[in-house]
Amino acid sequence: MIGQGPVGSVQRFKRNGTKTEQQRNGKILLSLGLPMTHRIVMPIRAENRWLYPIDWQQLSGSIRFERAGRRCEQCRRPHLRRVAHLGDGRWWDAEATCWRSSQGKRITIKGGFALASIRVTYVVLACAHLDHDPGNSSRTNLKALCQRCHMIHDAAEHRWQRWWNVFRVRALRDLYEDPRVTRERIADR
Ligand SMILES: [Zn+2]
Repeated sequence: MIGQGPVGSVQRFKRNGTKTEQQRNGKILLSLGLPMTHRIVMPIRAENRWLYPIDWQQLSGSIRFERAGRRCEQCRRPHLRRVAHLGDGRWWDAEATCWRSSQGKRITIKGGFALASIRVTYVVLACAHLDHDPGNSSRTNLKALCQRCHMIHDAAEHRWQRWWNVFRVRALRDLYEDPRVTRERIADR
């Protein structure tokens, strides 16, 4: 029966050498599954999900692919490409055959560099909110950024988010803890 049976049954052959239905089904699933491994889903925090407009996927796509032309709007690294870089933001633009700065400008590297310092990164563009507010999805507030630029842009926000997470745990504990326990805990300090 299609779609049933353990995954292991995919490996089984009928005695006469023809493929079982599970096996054929397994093949179909595999062929559908392969492109999925290349789809990197950028997680949206569950608590922020409702803030995103319902057409976020289309909006994000139109920023990244149409407006940005599949390149980071900060450093110009191309989407879903392996890019050689020096770890400090300078990267090799294979298409334009030149080095670029972390700001996307063409540069020459004076004095050369050690081959060992070259790294390769798979670039993924995501659509960032410039003011960190997922509720503000006007096009001027959105920017297609590679993960490096995204992280740099979000660095201050990440620190704040960590603080906020700790704060919320504290606030929840304060809200729901038995006041007598709270009193004892404070007294124990
Ligand atoms: Zn970038």
